[in-house]
This record gives sequence, structure tokens and C-alpha cells, in this order.
Amino acid sequence: MPGGTSVRPHGGQVALRGVVAMDGPSGTGKSTVSRRLAQAFTAAYLDTGAMYRAATLAALRAGLTDLASDAEIARVATGACMKSGTDPAAPTITLDGEDVSAEIRGPEVTAFVSAVSAVPQVRTELVARQHGLIAAAVEQGGGIVVEGRDIGTVVVPDAPLKVYLTASPEVRAARRGRQDAKAGRQTDLHVTLADVERRDRLDSSRRISPLYAAADALVLDTDRLSADAVLDRLRALVVERGLDG
Ligand code: C5P
Repeated sequence: MPGGTSVRPHGGQVALRGVVAMDGPSGTGKSTVSRRLAQAFTAAYLDTGAMYRAATLAALRAGLTDLASDAEIARVATGACMKSGTDPAAPTITLDGEDVSAEIRGPEVTAFVSAVSAVPQVRTELVARQHGLIAAAVEQGGGIVVEGRDIGTVVVPDAPLKVYLTASPEVRAARRGRQDAKAGRQTDLHVTLADVERRDRLDSSRRISPLYAAADALVLDTDRLSADAVLDRLRALVVERGLDG
């Protein structure tokens, strides 16, 4: 896939060394906690979901729908020129040089992304790009918090800290609704809940890299845990495992 990588050193008091893999379904608070964890340490942050969303936007812009064949989706999605910025204070993603960070959260992309991300060639290409971004962050002697669905199982199976966040579909839909409202997107709670459940089904049942918790992941149910509480837990784990400093 054309397009470069951008990994920059980021501010913070104490450094993180290595990779923290953050997995789980939509609405578990992964992004909030991952970004804050990366900011708390001197770490980069990679949102792999944004990469699948940008690939989906490229497919939509090429006029493809879920009636398209895997080959058509793969051709457009893997040929897209996208760049991921890994600053946790301001993560960005561009498509053909345009910042599409807001557009990739819209309903059209959300409805189509699970189909695009189930195409094997799309996953192969995006995982290769993720490996490049992760290696660049770690090579600089630093660390990176990587969030997605298959980070601890496929992308970085030897990550020294793996976390899998869960929460009930109702709580996750309510969180998504609040995020949408904050971003100025009008949504209906029932529609959001149906979408959360539909994506769970598709992401967990696909043939390649389905969503599940790695055997050695710490599983945290966030139904009754605030983002602050999850973050405290993760900061303590980073220190306990000697990944700081
Ligand atoms: O995390 P987010 O909800 O933005 O992810 C959007 C979609 O991208 C997911 O529903 C899933 O289909 C796909 N995805 C994936 N593997 C990842 C990250 C996201 O398949 N590592």
C-alpha cells in the first residue's frame, strides 16, 4: 500500500518500553484508555480500527458497496494511500493527503467496515503496515500502545502486556451514543445498539483474525469501571511488568 509512516517521539514523564496490546469490541473505552496510557508514558499510539475505517472509506469513494467482491474491495482498499499519525494527543489518519479522521466515524463507514476488514488481502496489507509503524516506534527505544481487535492474538502475539476490554452491549451502545453526540452526529440508541451487536457478530465470527481475547490477556469488564479506574490499573501493570523507564 503506498503512503509513508509517521512515528514521532511524544511528551510524557516516564517512558514505556515495548508494545501494549489493547483489544476488545466497540464501545469498551479502548481508545480513551489507550490514548491516555500512551500519554502517561512517553509512548506512541496506534488506532488500527482507524486504518480499517480509512480503507473502507476508500472503497466507498470508489463506489463499492457490500455487494462488491473480495477482489474488488481488496484492490481499492490495499491501493489506498493512507498515513497514520501516532501522537496520542492528536492521532490522525489521512487518505490521499486529506485528513479523514472525522469522516471515517460516520455511519456509512461504520456500516461497511466489518465487511471490508474481513477480506483476507486487506488484513494482510494493513497488518504489514501496522508492523512497520510498531517497529519504528519500538526501534527508537520507545513504546507504543496499539488498539484493535487482533493485536494480542495476531499483530503482536508476543506483546509484554495484553489487555482485553469488555462491557455489555447496552453500556457500549450508550458510550458510542455519547461519543457520537459529542462529535455532532445524530444517532438513535436502538440503532447504535443494533450496530454494536451486528459488528460484534461479524468481527467475532470472521474466518481470519476473529475477535477474541488472547489466552494471556488481562480481561477487564468495564461495565462498572470508569476510564480513570481502568487507567490506574494499566499504569500499575506497566510498572509491575518493568515496562516503564
Ligand atoms: O475500533 P473501531 O470500532 O474503530 O474498528 C472498526 C472496525 O474495524 C471493527 O468493527 C472491525 O471490523 C475492524 N477492525 C479489525 N481489526 C482491528 C481493528 C479494527 O478488524 N485490529
